[in-house]
Amino acid sequence: MTSDLKPCPFCGGAAEMDTRQAYANYVTGRHQTGIAIYCVACGVQAMICRGDVPDVEPEQVMEIWNARAALPSTTSSGEAMERRGHYAEIIGDVVGGLVLASVVLLMLGFALGGG
Ligand SMILES: [Zn+2]
Repeated sequence: MTSDLKPCPFCGGAAEMDTRQAYANYVTGRHQTGIAIYCVACGVQAMICRGDVPDVEPEQVMEIWNARAALPSTTSSGEAMERRGHYAEIIGDVVGGLVLASVVLLMLGFALGGG
């Protein structure tokens, strides 16, 4: 059954299902179980709690997991690195902009203070 699971959408790792995943109910604090599918590599998971859906079936969780896995894949590490580089570029631009802004403010402060 787990062979029907698509690989992790975030890291490409293998997915496994746990039909007795334990969790503590947020409201009551009582321990309950749910059906979870998780990535064995990075730990990201999709889960339906029996507290919410008492008659949950594995197929329902599988559908949720596989729908997310259908998003554009980042399985190739080269592509992931490329994206990371792109984000670093954006962050660099933002930081650069902030530094420039603070320098301008500093100069403005000198101009106002000196005058
Ligand atoms: Zn993963």
